[in-house]
Amino acid sequence: MKCVLVLLCLVTFNLSFTQVSPIIPTPVVYKELNETLNFDGELLVSFAGLSTNLETQITNLARMYHGIQLSIYSSGPKVLFKKLENVIQDSYSINVSNEIVVSYSSEASCFYAFISLMQLIENTSSGFQLKKCFVKDYPKFSWRGLHLDVSRHFFSVEEVKKFIDLMSLYKFNTFHWHLTDDQGWRIEIKNFPKLAEIGAWRDSTINDHYSTKPRTYSYKKYGGFYTQEQIKEVVAYASSKFVTIVPEIEMPGHSRAALAAYPEYSCTGIQQGVEGLWGVFDDIFCSKEETILFLQKILDEVILLFPGKYIHVGGDEAPKTRWEKCTNCQKVMHENNLKNEHQLQSYFIQRMDKYLTEKGRKLIGWDEILEGGLSSNAAVMSWRGIEGGVEAASQEHEVVMTPGSHCYFDHYQGKGRNEPLAIGGFTPLEKVYEFNPIPNQLNKKYEPYILGGQANVWTEYIDDFEKVEYMVYPRALALSQALWCAEKPSFNEFKNVLIDKHLPFLKKMNVHYAKTIFSPKIEWEKSNKGVQFKIKSNEQEEIYEVESSKYRNKKFSKMNFDVSKDESVEINRSEKDQINYTYCLKSKNDSLTTQFDIQATHSLGIPVKYITQPSSSYNSGNLTLVDGQHGSLPWKRNEWIGFDTTEIDIEIDLLKKQKYNQLNISFLSDEHSWIHFPQQIEVFYLDKEKWKHYSSSVHFSYLQSEQVRSFQVALNKPTRHVRIKIKSLAEIPAGFPGAGHIPWTFIDEIEVVK
Ligand SMILES: [Zn+2]
Repeated sequence: MKCVLVLLCLVTFNLSFTQVSPIIPTPVVYKELNETLNFDGELLVSFAGLSTNLETQITNLARMYHGIQLSIYSSGPKVLFKKLENVIQDSYSINVSNEIVVSYSSEASCFYAFISLMQLIENTSSGFQLKKCFVKDYPKFSWRGLHLDVSRHFFSVEEVKKFIDLMSLYKFNTFHWHLTDDQGWRIEIKNFPKLAEIGAWRDSTINDHYSTKPRTYSYKKYGGFYTQEQIKEVVAYASSKFVTIVPEIEMPGHSRAALAAYPEYSCTGIQQGVEGLWGVFDDIFCSKEETILFLQKILDEVILLFPGKYIHVGGDEAPKTRWEKCTNCQKVMHENNLKNEHQLQSYFIQRMDKYLTEKGRKLIGWDEILEGGLSSNAAVMSWRGIEGGVEAASQEHEVVMTPGSHCYFDHYQGKGRNEPLAIGGFTPLEKVYEFNPIPNQLNKKYEPYILGGQANVWTEYIDDFEKVEYMVYPRALALSQALWCAEKPSFNEFKNVLIDKHLPFLKKMNVHYAKTIFSPKIEWEKSNKGVQFKIKSNEQEEIYEVESSKYRNKKFSKMNFDVSKDESVEINRSEKDQINYTYCLKSKNDSLTTQFDIQATHSLGIPVKYITQPSSSYNSGNLTLVDGQHGSLPWKRNEWIGFDTTEIDIEIDLLKKQKYNQLNISFLSDEHSWIHFPQQIEVFYLDKEKWKHYSSSVHFSYLQSEQVRSFQVALNKPTRHVRIKIKSLAEIPAGFPGAGHIPWTFIDEIEVVK
């Protein structure tokens, strides 16, 4: 009967057309009429058939979004709730005519329907307005997750609740709580009290970025843990918002905090502290029987606290160096006929899989659990790309897609220098929006094994909750589109709705979201005298107001810019000074201040010829080396020119033969990313069509810490053409990541001064 009603409603909307809905994630069907339902802040509601929790949630949502009062005594338009039977899981519909009918199939779908309804209401100067419309909706994937690492940095119960609250408003239903790691154990285990007493606290924390040299530490006791009572409180809170928590207890790797409390479960038994450095560590849980039983007893308590189906056991980044030398581990291998340490890890995970399965739960782990053979019931979280997920799904195992390329919210989201320190990578909003959890290469028949996707929020470089929000929002909204929508609108349509409706809402909710999408697009090009740039608004339709000032010769001066007039600013290579530009872009609802520096030298905008081609992954063109802007730290894609050859040959044309003073060329080092300083630099000048070597020696100095080195060569012969030949190390030396491979050489910038 209800289906007939829905159909009838659809017919009455035949004059309308599907428009972009203000709801995020975008519903399956949204049709609006050119008529509105107006009311004053009150809605008359019938809660018949709804649970007490839904009654509370719905009343709170109305108050939170708009300050609307919902009650059976109200005088506004009527809201009716109707239960749907035999429809797609979690589907709902909303029909707004002279009254509002919310049809739902499950408790969660009723909650989602009401959130959608709240997103449709507009608070105008003449009261509340709701377009008469019809919405039909259901999720594409059942696993719509966000993860939070509380080990590297700890977040309070209130902060975790706010995290859950916000995610539920964008229809995420799975919170992956990363509770244990090398840098802190965060869950009280009554049988093993030292896990919290000792394992939850570290004596030091590394400052700056992992790759910054020299490394420095802050020696302040840092940590915290959740009591079992607090965990229960968070689980109940999440459940009231239809969010299931997946707890993660890392094993056998990332276990230094646990081993600091109970060193007897390591291979060496040596007492070490909770780790204050980031990374992967050799000391992991020993695979002996005592350790397996210790971990199973921990899981017993975890199971009692978390009612959800899935228990995450990590399984990633477990070096086998200790296992190879441990008599206990070797004995387990021998007794179980295991050929190598990968099979031993597989055995370890299988023991946990069997244990959890017996208790009626399901094990999930990072894609490394595929190595050495995947345990029979295990589900896989694919993070090192999509291949692990494809492999596991093809073996008929459940899979959650969390590839680093699209789903790592600890990556940078913008290239501006105002972006706060991040681990690296580059995952802008557009990239998240493109995410599709179903890989192209997966055989269609295995698609049902892909449960959905999730973003991971690792917190090495996220030390407070405001920064968590900065990294997660608005990227989580782009992800919600990928996980919910049957068909996504275009990125621009999404962005308009985001800027118009959702960023103002996040602001009202006191969420410290990133304003990166408001960064101006700066277009650089060569000019006759040097380089010139134009500032373009990042929005095609909206005109931004730009306030700008430049700092030159120790003086600030105001510059006036009209973005709509397409004006260019030219920087002359003979100016020889440092210019600092600051821009403030203002849009309808937001503003963002950004700045950049330009060092004008004689090489500004000159022709550069790559005789050796840079790697296509790190080649942003010929202007990058001479655009007056030094590659920044931490390095991001496109700011540096990267070569993956041992010999590099570059020619520059200074446009005029004369005596110059010096050539500076700067290089980057990041051994963790296989980037090393070069071994040899030779500079040549062209004399009567022959390249001649400058006899002067090469000096170097460090710029911006020891990660960037600038080499200086005196140009003691008049010349117009200069050639630079660079030799890298033949291979990365032993003891460094990537040993034996050709190192990367990263260059920016080349400067010639007179
Ligand atoms: Zn061992």
